[in-house]
Amino acid sequence: MRILIIGAGISGLAAALALVRMGHEVRLLERADGLHEVGAGLQLGPNAMRVLGQLGVAEQVIAAGQRPQAITLRDGRSAREILKVPLGDAALRRWGARYVTLHRADLVAVLASALEATQPGALVTGCAVEQIDSAAAQVVTADGQTLSADLIIGADGIHSRVRTALFGPETPRFTGHVAWRALVAVDKTDPAAPPAGVGAWLGPRRHAVTYRVRPNLVNFVGVTEQSDWREEGWNLPGDPERLRAEFSGWDAITRLLARAEAPLRWALHDRKPMRAWHKGRTVLIGDACHPMLPFLAQGAAMGVEDGYMLARLLPMAADDATIDAALARFFALRQPRTARVQANARANGVDFHEGNPLATLAMRLPLGRAASARPDAVMARWDWLYGGGPVPSNRRDLA
Ligand SMILES: Cc1cc2nc3c(=O)[nH]c(=O)nc-3n(C[C@H](O)[C@H](O)[C@H](O)COP(=O)(O)OP(=O)(O)OC[C@H]3O[C@@H](n4cnc5c(N)ncnc54)[C@H](O)[C@@H]3O)c2cc1C
Repeated sequence: MRILIIGAGISGLAAALALVRMGHEVRLLERADGLHEVGAGLQLGPNAMRVLGQLGVAEQVIAAGQRPQAITLRDGRSAREILKVPLGDAALRRWGARYVTLHRADLVAVLASALEATQPGALVTGCAVEQIDSAAAQVVTADGQTLSADLIIGADGIHSRVRTALFGPETPRFTGHVAWRALVAVDKTDPAAPPAGVGAWLGPRRHAVTYRVRPNLVNFVGVTEQSDWREEGWNLPGDPERLRAEFSGWDAITRLLARAEAPLRWALHDRKPMRAWHKGRTVLIGDACHPMLPFLAQGAAMGVEDGYMLARLLPMAADDATIDAALARFFALRQPRTARVQANARANGVDFHEGNPLATLAMRLPLGRAASARPDAVMARWDWLYGGGPVPSNRRDLA
């Protein structure tokens, strides 16, 4: 089929790569002038890494990223460990793939170069789509071109124009959370460097996450509660002094933030799962149809899963009935999983910020603080997520 994908984020790129590998002809339209070094850290769980393995790029992604040995939850003030989820070889053994953290731009680069190698010229940058006719599978670009295809895929992110064309405007709910992000250069012996691995630092009304995206580059995300500021965007400047004040008394975090010169911030909005993702010959994937709060670190992973699953389900020939059946099946398979991820991310947002995080976590995680001593039991809690998806782990005993 001839397929137009709108938006070359992680979801659009993964879908394009999967579709060209299946033999479809793809045009991937991106409004930005190029795939610039934009964004900061992303986490890819084993569920996404197994899919990237099927797409033939797992080795490059591992080489571009870092391999954390554990996710460690700590009390922000005292740095005391609350819980440890083993990753590294333990993740490989249990879920059949590694857990990787990396720079968003590095993942974009790996996917874009694999796409270019498979179908040269598929990616068209500097091409913003302005109008969408879902029934006719036609779009009009900002420079007045009309492009048609057998199928349109809207991978245009949280403020999706394609979604609005299909289903009208939405009304997201401001959660009262503001997320801050910063990249901080460190070297190995640096006292500002946080411990290796993924660190989640918890406290009343705030939490922080730290991990390396490159050997000497730490990604910081901090989430605070603030009702007076509601702008939702990835690149809005934040005041470094205010950020440091938010985490005062959290020594490990303030040492790191002393180096953060130009933090960015965005207000977090929540959306309910949608009841439909497709209309006519147009379908949504990624943040365009299931944007999620960042507290489970699965936004990019869900986009990768979507792109691969859609490519697996689409027919090679373009008649209305088979396309419609494939899109209905795509929704039926993907919506429950992404809705579960959205709900778990929302619940983490509450747990991470309750008055006494130690007590909250001890209550909510069945094994409480003793959990670190029983890594299999901690890992089992995440089998549905890290062991599931369109390329399930081949361990039959996982839920
Ligand atoms: C600039 C940017 C920086 C980000 N930084 C981070 C980060 O640091 N950490 C993190 O965890 N997540 C980050 N994310 C979000 C994360 O990448 C996504 O949540 C996740 O990967 C799902 O991606 P997606 O492809 O569905 O949507 P997105 O990543 O939002 O990609 C959508 C793409 O569509 C393009 N687009 C939008 N409208 C049009 C249009 N009308 N015509 C053509 N193209 C269009 C956009 O330019 C963008 O490239 C960032 C997203 C963006 C856009």
